[in-house]
Amino acid sequence: MTSDDNDVLLTDAAVADEFGDFLKHTYFDKITEVMYMETPVLVVNYNDILEYTENKGVELPSYFYDSADIPLTALKEATAMIIAGVDPGMKGLSPEIRIKNYDDAIPLRSISTAHTKKMIVVNAIISKVSEEKPFMTKSVYKCKECNNTQESPKNTYIKKCPSCEAENVMQLDIGLCSFSPFRNIVIQDLPEDLPAGQIPMNKSVRVFGSDLTAADICRPGSRIKLTAIVRLDYDKNTLEDIKANTDVLGILEPQSTGTTFSLILTANNIEALHSEDDSLTSKHQLTKEDIKKIESYKTRPDLNDILVASSAAHIFGNDYIKECLLLASVGANMSESDIKKRGDINILMVGNAGVAKSQLLLSTAKISPRSVYVSGRGSSGVGLTAAVVKDEKTGVMMLEAGACVLADLGLCIIDEFDKLKADNRSALHEVMEQQTCSIAKGGIVATLNARVSILAAANPLYGTYDSYKTLAENTGYPPSMISRFDFIFVMKDIVDDATDSAIAETILADDHHPPVDTLFLSKYIHYIKNKKHDPELTLEARHKIIDHYLALRRKAEKDKDGSVSAITVTARLVDTLKRVSIARARLLQKERVDKSDVQRVIFLLSKMYESFGIYIPDSETPDLAANVKEIQTINLGLLYGKPASKMNKKKVFFEYCDAITNEGKIDKIDIEQLIYTLVKSGKFVTRYDAEDTIADARRAGVLDQIQGNTYRYNRDMVKNGGSF
Ligand SMILES: [Zn+2]
Repeated sequence: MTSDDNDVLLTDAAVADEFGDFLKHTYFDKITEVMYMETPVLVVNYNDILEYTENKGVELPSYFYDSADIPLTALKEATAMIIAGVDPGMKGLSPEIRIKNYDDAIPLRSISTAHTKKMIVVNAIISKVSEEKPFMTKSVYKCKECNNTQESPKNTYIKKCPSCEAENVMQLDIGLCSFSPFRNIVIQDLPEDLPAGQIPMNKSVRVFGSDLTAADICRPGSRIKLTAIVRLDYDKNTLEDIKANTDVLGILEPQSTGTTFSLILTANNIEALHSEDDSLTSKHQLTKEDIKKIESYKTRPDLNDILVASSAAHIFGNDYIKECLLLASVGANMSESDIKKRGDINILMVGNAGVAKSQLLLSTAKISPRSVYVSGRGSSGVGLTAAVVKDEKTGVMMLEAGACVLADLGLCIIDEFDKLKADNRSALHEVMEQQTCSIAKGGIVATLNARVSILAAANPLYGTYDSYKTLAENTGYPPSMISRFDFIFVMKDIVDDATDSAIAETILADDHHPPVDTLFLSKYIHYIKNKKHDPELTLEARHKIIDHYLALRRKAEKDKDGSVSAITVTARLVDTLKRVSIARARLLQKERVDKSDVQRVIFLLSKMYESFGIYIPDSETPDLAANVKEIQTINLGLLYGKPASKMNKKKVFFEYCDAITNEGKIDKIDIEQLIYTLVKSGKFVTRYDAEDTIADARRAGVLDQIQGNTYRYNRDMVKNGGSF
């Protein structure tokens, strides 16, 4: 419906009368209420306009469709008239008019020149915010010669005095001018509205008025419902050219003209977007049938297997990692007991190129309702957290949100973590520990929320992962950063015929038939993620956590006395066990976190240690729970792997090779037998561990493949030493 449908186009005065009647009818009490407020703002519910229109048979909404400035000006003037009528002492007061519930949100990328002058609603995330500046809404010039004052309607300089006609005598009289707080903000698509792999669309928004420019509203990372008017702006304009939001023409007055324009928005209203609204905007719209189906899975005993088998079905194996990624997608809330405690699960995958790390990350991004995917190589500019940048056009300083802030309450997925610059990585420390990121630069001081799970993939520092070195040595990350990850998996490219052919078959398969499809899985995750209440831990689950922690502490202590110090265990483990167990119970839609959840998490952790070549038995767990009060009282700590020394293993390797080949008298060696013997020796804790040494031996020429599992043992190479 446009005003063209009306036979008579009402004049501005008539429009003001129409809206005046509406306000008197519906908003009289509200106006008398807001007029005495410090910042008078009248919020008009668009539904009230629609209702009034229906009852009175007038056509008010069409004005909004045509040129939103007309009804807004009419409402503003009518409000001022009502105020002047109620209290003549308040004459001249004209509150800002904010429109609420205007229309359904449209995608940011669909805004075009066709929307110019029209009011639109978008759901978006604020990515950049400028510092607050006073914006001149009324400029008054005073003549130096005759003291005549003159208001400049377009905020432009008046050259000639209209009274004494002298030239170059007019000066701006600041005392007579009016100012409104102004900010320039940049918004972009909500991460969940963005198709995977697409770059988000940015739009510049001008925000006027202290009610909208407040720091808690204009905050990078804030998810907002923006009601705005679309305008065209000459590309060459500067801050001085920006006209007030009452510009009826739609096109802003330029000082210098050009032929290229930018579509910009002038905010009329900004409302915080709550997570309940997300399901309305997101592509993961849940129907009643969806929810019914999701809840029907609750009773499936094989639910965990179903979910794991359905995630990244095109990638062979890595089931434990897939399971951990699912748990991270869901996370825990943890907000009710302790607001400072994080509920996020951080995962790092370290491995050689070609081990499907990136594909696992991309698949996780695809099923997670709120995730931001960045590559360490590309995220150099703004970085991961926040930056202060100068806006080229207006010259004002702007606070720009990085990936972690944009992904607030979701996943920040970082590929090529090793390519991150050191300062970017160190900025991540705060995010992973405090769930915030702070910045103080260029006069801007801010702390932004970054309640995210970090899922990262990295290549080892020197190309391949060296099992004889610690994770810190392999990655170059400080232990303090490594300890922030709940799960770290070392992924190796192990040459093995059976696995290789299975991988090849998985890749070649035309259609994968996971138990549930990706769309349903993403709906499932979305549904679980939105559940605000965490299931509680049973007493048995608590005891299991404490027992495991104490057993590991004792084992670590014991190892320290011996020759090999395998692991460092601190109370951070308790926190991890609790969070991940809660996430598991959530994922499986359980009412409570029971012992089996904790056991599964312990199992997953043991799989993680195994990937490092550390074996941790889940035994010797005497019930010491009685001696420990509440698990929450245990402080955060540190846990990360530290493999045994290289020399030790090399020596063992030769001993066993010598034994198998009878001091080299038999030159052939069966590799499977060797692996079996090495692992059985106890010095090599896993098959991976033994295979690593064998790989080194092959590189050094100590072992040569003859055929299949049969290798030649070149004992002479031992004497020569070589690089092995
Ligand atoms: Zn004059």
